[in-house]
Amino acid sequence: LKYGPVRLSIAVSCDPEDLAAPGVRGLSPYQPGKPESELRRELGLDFIVKLASNENPLGPSPLARQAAAQTLAAVARYPDGNGFVLKQALAEHFRLDPAMVTLGNGSNDVLDLLARAFVTPANEVVFSRHAFAVYALAAQAIGATARVAPPNPPLSEQPYGHDLGAMASLVGPKTRLVFLANPNNPTGTWLSPAALESFVAQLPDHVIVVIDEAYAEYAYSVEESSAISWLRRYPNLVVTRTFSKAYGLAGLRVGVALSHPGIAELLNRVRQPFNVNLLGQTAAVAALQDGAHLERSVSLNDREMKRLQAEFETLGLETIPSAGNFLCVDFHREATPVYEAMLSRGVIVRPIGGYAMPNHLRITVGTPDENARLIEVLTEVLRT
Ligand SMILES: *Cc1c(COP(=O)(O)O)cnc(C)c1O
Repeated sequence: LKYGPVRLSIAVSCDPEDLAAPGVRGLSPYQPGKPESELRRELGLDFIVKLASNENPLGPSPLARQAAAQTLAAVARYPDGNGFVLKQALAEHFRLDPAMVTLGNGSNDVLDLLARAFVTPANEVVFSRHAFAVYALAAQAIGATARVAPPNPPLSEQPYGHDLGAMASLVGPKTRLVFLANPNNPTGTWLSPAALESFVAQLPDHVIVVIDEAYAEYAYSVEESSAISWLRRYPNLVVTRTFSKAYGLAGLRVGVALSHPGIAELLNRVRQPFNVNLLGQTAAVAALQDGAHLERSVSLNDREMKRLQAEFETLGLETIPSAGNFLCVDFHREATPVYEAMLSRGVIVRPIGGYAMPNHLRITVGTPDENARLIEVLTEVLRT
């Protein structure tokens, strides 16, 4: 039997949009990087390089892969809804109490849980202009007011990065959440531990501050004094981590919030009962145990990032200094045509017009082969 595509011919007497919660009206969904499979279908190209979503080009630890494969046999059963083993492993890894750990279906999930647990439409949420898109989405879906701080100016040490002073001045009696990423995506910029801690210290008690450390494993200078070590001093601090970036498990969706147990207890009330799947839990535990794979991933990134920076410079392109696994490249003109020309040659990078940076492209640091192809294609595109 063959079915054609189902035709949508439902007569609507009222537009569902009119029924949507106020925050959801006018919300635009998150725009992910273009999947490799999609481009392969469109172009019929064999060698496609995806440098669009800051995934680890080496993939996960072989231990994680093996653990996930072995767990496949058990997927008829629900996973442990409390993620006991993974929480224990994380608590040990970060030297915290397991009661301070909340697991999420990616860190996206925990960012969303934070908004749902603490924010009402009467509240305000503070973040910086070129910050991770999910902060705005989480606030808007609740119907809360987003207070967007102006970023550092283009000609500063951390161009387009978070201006903590500007963020602090937006905090008021209605503020319930402050989101910031260190290092930040899409800029790659970072904050000094001293400046960040004094920002946290001066926040009033009614404000929860979320420090998103999705790229912390790449930022050695940040890792030494990750905000995790401040958790005991600030009960209103939440630090998020993810297995999607340096740990190479983006497809399995495992994220983490670390906080005062009281915050963890509230997040636990609003999360879905089985929000982290079985394969994700097992693979994440194994990934934490493979420090050598993480080190290899970070040193590959360090090496290739330096090389790419030099190559971009040779091409006359400026980059924003980055502590992550990606570079934001300035084309000093609308960058979408460059993106499209690269796409048609099988190299996927990330346009960030949606982040109010239409002249930049965000490019993930890949393997030496991927980066070589990237530079080859970019050189060709800039010549035409
Ligand atoms: C990629 C990224 C995340 C991770 O999202 P997951 O849901 O864990 O895959 C979180 N924050 C920032 C800033 C990111 O760039």
